[in-house]
Amino acid sequence: MTDDAAAPTCLARPLPGPGDDRAGGCAAARGVDGRPLHAAALKFFWGPMDCGKSTMALQMNYNHARQGRRGLVTTRIDRSLGPQVTTRIGLAHEAIEVTDGLDLRDLVRSAWAEGVRVDYLICDEASFYDLEHVEQMAELVDKFDVDVYAFGLATDFRSCLFPAAQRLFELADEVARIQVEVLCWCGREGLLNARVVQGRVVREGAQVVIGDTVDTADVRYQVLCRRHYRSGDLGPRA
Ligand SMILES: [Zn+2]
Repeated sequence: MTDDAAAPTCLARPLPGPGDDRAGGCAAARGVDGRPLHAAALKFFWGPMDCGKSTMALQMNYNHARQGRRGLVTTRIDRSLGPQVTTRIGLAHEAIEVTDGLDLRDLVRSAWAEGVRVDYLICDEASFYDLEHVEQMAELVDKFDVDVYAFGLATDFRSCLFPAAQRLFELADEVARIQVEVLCWCGREGLLNARVVQGRVVREGAQVVIGDTVDTADVRYQVLCRRHYRSGDLGPRA
């Protein structure tokens, strides 16, 4: 049995023909009531650092692949600084780096042109994408019937929404806070990502600065509860 045969019929969309911009043959696959058999969706999963977003992204990719679906994994500024999704618990998966000029629609179209099925996109670190990328995600869902699952931070070190995250909140069919709790040093639920430079919480600077959460790094990030984010108290270990 091939993967295609194992997949639910609504997912076994025909590949696009030459010049078929819409590409998603499933767009025409409708039930007797005229509704699409497969309604693709844009979903945004968000949470602070360390809450397991990348782990969940890879788990979702695995679960869908097991059901015979085929997807692409994209990322931007992964902690490995390479074209892969890596997780703090040691998982890794190759991924396509989302650069400034990358068009996610072209990415899917060129895969289709090579005969590669794309049923869904997993977009890790989506808060670092450009606004245009989020618009492209919406179009992939609406015009191409491709599911898009985006994972990312909601807010930056100033506790303000990343532009791409804001747009995802505005456009997504479904928004879910990742349920793995990250705790502040005080034991309260961690909510905000503090940037720590030379042992102090900073509130000004570029929106994206690569750091790590290793205590010795010049720039590091620490998840705090709102109370300790606001007071800048990094706890007794700091
Ligand atoms: Zn706290």
